[in-house]
Amino acid sequence: LSATDSEALPWHEALWQRLAAARRADRLPHALLLAGPAGLGKSRFARRLSNALVCPQVDEQGDPCGRCGSCRQAVAGAHPDQLWLAPEEPGKPIKIDAVRRIAARSTLSAGVAGYRVVVIDPADALNRAAANALLKTLEEPVSRSVLVLVSSHPDRLMATVRSRCQLCRFVLPPPAETRRWLAGRLEADADALLAIGGGAPLRALQAGAADWPAGDRRLLGDLADLRGRRVNPTEVVSAWAEQPLGSWFDGLGRCLVSLIGQRSGARQSAYFHPGVEDDLQNLSRNIDLSQLFELYDELMRLQREASNHLNQQMLLEHIATRWLQITRNRGR
Ligand SMILES: [Zn+2]
Repeated sequence: LSATDSEALPWHEALWQRLAAARRADRLPHALLLAGPAGLGKSRFARRLSNALVCPQVDEQGDPCGRCGSCRQAVAGAHPDQLWLAPEEPGKPIKIDAVRRIAARSTLSAGVAGYRVVVIDPADALNRAAANALLKTLEEPVSRSVLVLVSSHPDRLMATVRSRCQLCRFVLPPPAETRRWLAGRLEADADALLAIGGGAPLRALQAGAADWPAGDRRLLGDLADLRGRRVNPTEVVSAWAEQPLGSWFDGLGRCLVSLIGQRSGARQSAYFHPGVEDDLQNLSRNIDLSQLFELYDELMRLQREASNHLNQQMLLEHIATRWLQITRNRGR
């Protein structure tokens, strides 16, 4: 996430105004937990908040002025009162050393006129020792210092950490609002993309904007090779394991939606994989629509439940096996 990626999003507005008012009244909580499903821009919100809190002269909306020395430092990602704690690699835990470094710095008093802000994103990546170290910081709040935890899985946080934060809940905006927002940004069909994003606008936008055809082509090829029993599932699974789990889920989800579209005679499949209708037809030939739906539902369920602790290999093997089952004896 770049330092400037702090765009105001319409579905954030109520929460933003609440926090801006709290700041004006000098009643900002010491710790906030930004919680809610992925794809709603919680990290962006945290960035916007962090940029606003270091600026001593915010505008009426509570947004940073963009002109002062603090704002310039913030945009350059070099403000000494802004700390951003994330795993060294996605999916890896945040360890105690990192929390200790942050804690040591956050006991210093904040700069001239702004706040000191520590963002931990995703907070559910804190391992147990790190969370315990963080608790100490939460128990001794420092004036004009705000800790912002970001999590799509707040249930995985330690209850003692959760209970010391003010909960800021992010919920899926109404579909109509999301469609309006997406429509202004995408050429593609907003409804179809929204289905892929599970209702989360940013995920839907990503599905539309990302260079997915190349990756999806490979996935469709893998499904065809499995169906034709031309490859060993183990080879396919190890290729799948090389890409980030999130993009694999999204890609396979799109492939299955295309197959469902193809099988049910809908034209919608063309939105996702134009030009490969013949491949889709071969791939979905003789498969019951209900089985494709079941597989899709299962994929979505696994995606919701997927965690750092889940065995990724087993998950991929499971899906490959399920695909082999529904295509069994149907290839000829
Ligand atoms: Zn400023």
